[in-house]
Amino acid sequence: MAVEAVIFDWGGTLTPWIPVDHHQLWLDVCGLHFPADQAYQVATAIHAAETELWQACDQSQQSATLDHLFQRAGIVANDEFLASYFTAWEPHTATDPEAAPLLRELRARDVKVGVLSNTMWPRSAHERVFIRDGIFSLIDGAAYSSELARAKPHAEAFRAAMAAIGVTDPATCVFVGDRPYDDIYGAKRAGMRAVLIRGSHAPAFDAGVPDAVISRLSGLLPHLDSW
Ligand SMILES: [Mg+2]
Repeated sequence: MAVEAVIFDWGGTLTPWIPVDHHQLWLDVCGLHFPADQAYQVATAIHAAETELWQACDQSQQSATLDHLFQRAGIVANDEFLASYFTAWEPHTATDPEAAPLLRELRARDVKVGVLSNTMWPRSAHERVFIRDGIFSLIDGAAYSSELARAKPHAEAFRAAMAAIGVTDPATCVFVGDRPYDDIYGAKRAGMRAVLIRGSHAPAFDAGVPDAVISRLSGLLPHLDSW
């Protein structure tokens, strides 16, 4: 069946996976907004809450937002704090240089481009990254788990991504992601083709068998040609 749409995961897929010390990142952010004697405690509380929320996501596809995170950590995050947090992430979110040419080529082939990310960030934060890196206008629609009740690999997340780009038949969709469980198993179960991009340290998952494995984004096109 002809491919009508390619839906991409974000972290580790459109943005190369970079190991980030999350506790240190929160320490850096909290150091700007709390007295030194409180910064460590606050950063540690946020980091613990973050770890718990991601565990809940892994175990039951329960989604979460930054509001949930700060509530759980017992802190009030104002706009300045949030701005510092996103600034701290900036060096870790550079879009893969192969993304723009690939998305342009998909556009030229009349293939729709979608994004589906498990994330606590609001849509606006992701869109800022896409605009900064010049790919926002190449994306037809995106679904973020922070706006959904359930995250990948739950079918609801994949349905939301299809709705965001206006496609109805999962068999015409290809999903590209770096996580065997969330991305590959989830997409296959939703009825899509799934392409694993190597490079992150995501754990293996036996039931997540991809239709193809690539080591860089530009490796996708030959597979599309063969489908
Ligand atoms: Mg990923």
